[in-house]
Amino acid sequence: MDVSEIIIPGDTPGIEWRLPVFRFKGDDPATPKVYIQAALHADEVPGTALLHFLCEKLRDAESTGSIAGDITIAPQANPIGAAQSHFGELQGRFDLGSRTNFNRDFPLISLRDRNSLIEDLDRYPATDQLKRQLMHVALGADLVLDLHCDDESLQYAYIDEAFWPEASDLAAALAMDAVLLSDGESSAFEEAIGFAWKYEVPGERHAHLPGKLSVTVELRGQRDVYPHMAKADAEGLWRFLAARGIIRDESISPSTFAGPAVPLDNIEMIRSPESGTVLFHCNIGEEVTEGDLLATIITRPGMAHGSIEIRAPQAGLIVTRTSDRLVRRRADLMKIACSQPSGIVRKAGTLED
Ligand SMILES: [Zn+2]
Repeated sequence: MDVSEIIIPGDTPGIEWRLPVFRFKGDDPATPKVYIQAALHADEVPGTALLHFLCEKLRDAESTGSIAGDITIAPQANPIGAAQSHFGELQGRFDLGSRTNFNRDFPLISLRDRNSLIEDLDRYPATDQLKRQLMHVALGADLVLDLHCDDESLQYAYIDEAFWPEASDLAAALAMDAVLLSDGESSAFEEAIGFAWKYEVPGERHAHLPGKLSVTVELRGQRDVYPHMAKADAEGLWRFLAARGIIRDESISPSTFAGPAVPLDNIEMIRSPESGTVLFHCNIGEEVTEGDLLATIITRPGMAHGSIEIRAPQAGLIVTRTSDRLVRRRADLMKIACSQPSGIVRKAGTLED
C-alpha cells in the first residue's frame, strides 16, 4: 500500500490540509483502474468505516499478489469539512465560508483537459483546490465510486443512465434496496466525472460509456455506522472488485440485482407544506399504497384541528426519511421510489441542494 498526501494550503495563515490517498498497484495494466472515496460530505462516514476494512483486505491481497487492477482510495476525502464545527455541531455538507455544497460545483471539463485541473492551483480557494485535486485523481481511473449516506435511509445509489444496466453488479454486490437512475445533469462529483468521459471528444457526446462507471453510493443513514455494517459493505465492495476482475478471488461468483431501478422523475419528494412537529406513521423500507398516511404534522400544538396529514401521492417504496422531528415549511420528509413519474415536475440535476 503506497501512501501519499494531497496537500491543500488554507485560505488563512497557518492552515494546511493534508488528505491521505492510498494506492494498491495492480499487476495487469489491461485491468480497469478503480478510485473510491468517502466522506466528501464530511459528516457522512459509513463509507470511511467501509474503506478502513476494505484497505485491510486489500493489504492482504497485495501480499499474495492478488491485485490485478490499480486501486486508489481516499477514505476521508474532505478534511476541510471535517474541521467545521458550528456551535458544537459538525457541518460537513456545505463549506461555511462560501455556502457551497462540497458535492456541487465540480468543474465540467473534457477528460482531455484533466491536467488543467491542477494547473495554477493557487488561483483557487481551498475548497475548489480540494475539488480539483480529487477530480484529477479520479479521472485517472475507469471505475469511480463516491461513498455517501442519506439521513435515515435504505442502501441505494444514484447511477447515471449512461452506466445502466452494466452497474447492476455493483447494486447486487452491495445488496442495494433500490437504484435511482439519474440524468447526469448536475455538477456533483460523480456527474462531473461522467461529464468528462462523455465529452472526451469536445462537442461529441457519448450517451453510453461501456467499461466506465461513476456512481454516488448512499450507504444507508448517517447514524448507520457499526462494525457489522461496515464489514459487510467492505465484503460487498470486495465482491464487486472480484467480479470485475480487479482482484483475484475465485470464490466469488457474480450475483444479480433484483431491486427496483427508478428514474429520478419517479421519486416522490414528500415535503411538509407547513412547519411543525413530525409524527411519522411509516418507516424506510415500507411499501405504501396511494393515500396511505405517511406523517402527521402538528402545526399548532394544543389547538383543535392543529395538525395536518401527509399522504402518499402514489404507491411506492420509502427509501429515505428525515431525522428531523421539527421541520420548516417545504422541508423534505421522505423520498418514495415509485413506478410512475411524480406529478410534480422536477428540474434536471440532483433531487436535493
Ligand atoms: Zn452526501
